[in-house]
Amino acid sequence: MSTAGQVIRCKAAVAWEAGKPLSIEEVEVAPPQKQEVRIKILFTSLCHTDVYYWECKGYTPLFPRILGHEASGIVESVGEGVTDLQPGDHVLPIFTGECKKCRHCLSEETNNMCDLLRINCDRGVMLADGKTRFSINGKPIYHFVGTSTFSQYTVVHEGQVAKINPTAPLDKVCPISCGICTGFGATVNVAKPRKGQTVAIFGLGAVGLAAAEGARVCGASRIIAVDLNPRRFEEAKKFGITEFVNPKDYNKPVQEVIVEMTGGGVDRSVECTGSVQAMISAFECVHDGWGVCVLVGVPKIDDAFKTHPLNLLSERTLKGAFYGNYKPVSDIPNFVNKYMNKELGIDMDKFITHSLPFADINKAFDYMLQGIGLRCLIHLDA
Ligand code: NAD
Ligand code: ZN
Repeated sequence: MSTAGQVIRCKAAVAWEAGKPLSIEEVEVAPPQKQEVRIKILFTSLCHTDVYYWECKGYTPLFPRILGHEASGIVESVGEGVTDLQPGDHVLPIFTGECKKCRHCLSEETNNMCDLLRINCDRGVMLADGKTRFSINGKPIYHFVGTSTFSQYTVVHEGQVAKINPTAPLDKVCPISCGICTGFGATVNVAKPRKGQTVAIFGLGAVGLAAAEGARVCGASRIIAVDLNPRRFEEAKKFGITEFVNPKDYNKPVQEVIVEMTGGGVDRSVECTGSVQAMISAFECVHDGWGVCVLVGVPKIDDAFKTHPLNLLSERTLKGAFYGNYKPVSDIPNFVNKYMNKELGIDMDKFITHSLPFADINKAFDYMLQGIGLRCLIHLDA
């Protein structure tokens, strides 16, 4: 029986207040409006960005809210004007979009800074009418980055939906919708190490280890991993990392340690921590003359990056990367195909270290806060 055009009642994990455990509630999910798609979410995983907006330290509080942006699912129905997607399509919702019409989408200079659908963490409503598609007894529940995947059904703008190969395993490809592409693309598309070069990775969560996989695939000769949490080093051993550095083990700045280890600095560095101190270290540890540093982590709202301008004048390059520089709708289907054809060299099983039924979603937050494991896959149907 088709549910198209009807309100769907289903379970969602609602964040009522900053930092308080999510509660599983029955919510009403309205049908998709113009240019929107309603998706049955099968799997979702937790990324650190969800945790920042749940803790809301320094960010604009917007509650009650349904968080979640790393996920996979199947289209249930489509709204008016949607022609590229239909019910039954296997999809990844993506936290940032591609309208294919704006100056960013049409530019050859940038890849994913769409004017219309660029990530907006402060907006909790849909663009079509400024309203939410979620409610509980008529009371609106806000969206998060246009995806809100901690719900068995969600409504997403069509420009934030990547239609993927229907034979791709939806559990394994789930982290491609954020962490994997973000890290892997930051190295492969932006830092672009050459074969034999040295690469430092700051932060060994799923994003950082995906960046490390990118360095391995590019043929880096040394991959130096930096993290404050020694527990993360164990997990990281499976990822081709050649050396581990814990800044806490030294009484001088970690950039100095890395410059000494490498006789002048690494050729490339990728920062995946969200700590501004690590961002500065990642930049200052690249070699003068040619070193490139790429920032990926989401900083605190009042952070400022401080370095001496001479560090730039001596021909180091500082860049930032958003979603690995991939275009969400145009590039991700192909990324999934390459993964399926084993052309990427990424083993997704190494990233999915835990899995939980939906009812236990709060445990995934505990794992992330304690730095236990990498991605925790949440089964929405279980
Ligand atoms: P995570 O918490 O799993 O991993 C972060 C790691 O950084 C942890 O192991 C932590 O111990 C380490 N760390 C923290 N401060 C450090 C420091 N000063 N020096 C060295 N290591 C330090 O998080 P994740 O899910 O892998 O995400 C990593 C970052 O990427 C987060 O900031 C997240 O918000 C950001 N992110 C950015 C994008 C983007 O498109 N730019 C997309 C997704 C996630
Ligand atoms: Zn994310």
